[in-house]
Amino acid sequence: MSISIRHVTKRFAQFTALDDVSVDIPTGSLTALLGPSGSGKSTLLRVIAGLDTADAGTVSIEGADATHLPPQRREVGFVFQHYAPFKHMTVYDNIAFGLTVRKASKAETKAKVNQLLELVHLEKFQTRYPDQLSGGQRQRMALARALAVEPRVLLLDEPFGALDAQVRKELRTWLRRLHDEMNVTTVIVTHDQEEAMEVADEIVVLYDGRVQQVGHPHDVYEHPANDWVMSFLGPVTHFGDLLVRPHDLDLAHETSDGALPATVVRVTRLGFQTVVDLDVQGAPIYAQLAREATDRLTLSPGASVYVRHARGDALPAAPGVAVPGAVVPGAVVPEDAVLASDGASATP
Ligand code: ADP
Ligand code: MG
Repeated sequence: MSISIRHVTKRFAQFTALDDVSVDIPTGSLTALLGPSGSGKSTLLRVIAGLDTADAGTVSIEGADATHLPPQRREVGFVFQHYAPFKHMTVYDNIAFGLTVRKASKAETKAKVNQLLELVHLEKFQTRYPDQLSGGQRQRMALARALAVEPRVLLLDEPFGALDAQVRKELRTWLRRLHDEMNVTTVIVTHDQEEAMEVADEIVVLYDGRVQQVGHPHDVYEHPANDWVMSFLGPVTHFGDLLVRPHDLDLAHETSDGALPATVVRVTRLGFQTVVDLDVQGAPIYAQLAREATDRLTLSPGASVYVRHARGDALPAAPGVAVPGAVVPGAVVPEDAVLASDGASATP
């Protein structure tokens, strides 16, 4: 099920939530919509689902224009961050709900629900009620419920957002496997860079209602389209206007082509890596080194070293000039802190 979004614009009163967004989602892929809170991720997902209509632009599903198709005719399954299950129904009945509504036979429903219970590892919990489940189990139930009606597209809006880090990590590995087994086109909204990197075939980076970049996780990380994307996807250190990944810096006691003299300010060992804070002509810069590199050098505060870009990229000779008003995406508020309205559940 391929999805093609062309020049979609969505306004809420004067506010432009999506600004000329074009994205192609290939059949069977797992695509992440990644961006900070307020970047337009949920709005884009709702436009794909048909829960919101665009003010301009088109949405096609499998080549057919779906711009004005109601949600129930798009064959999409939806899972939100705060999934609201039917509290008075068992896990089994929650998952069976969509099939019951469609008047599937008892035998057919039973076969399908049992298959899904196995898939989401909830076989042993089928007679429990939702409030007898952990958060992770509840989200797995939500996924099973969405999958029961065999959607051609699975849309997930921060499905693991409310869970703790360890459970999230487990669930994303599991989601990846589920996606591969189900052969469904999946779009997942997340503000978590690591989650997107780990789970997705392709990442759509959104900021300010605009697509900043689309690409494979490795590509967007290594070849960011702009400074904003670079800062949002991973650590950066500022050589004046130039952003560099701190693990792309090499330190040495001798000078070499393109190296700048620096003074070691602080050395922090963090297991497999060492963070070295440096003063490069007044600019505070930091490098991340692997353990071997640190062991080779004698690094202590006050030591004179030379810093160069590991790939030989030029570093500015006078980095000590700060950039006023530079956008620092690291300062964004986590989605959970602001989001309160995604509590509705999908209507199967
Ligand atoms: P994200 O999911 O990336 O956090 P959203 O798509 O939910 O962002 O929202 C994008 C922007 O559009 C936000 O600034 C939000 O406040 C605004 N917005 C979303 N839905 C509405 C609405 N129904 N009415 C007014 N503004 C909205
Ligand atoms: Mg959102």
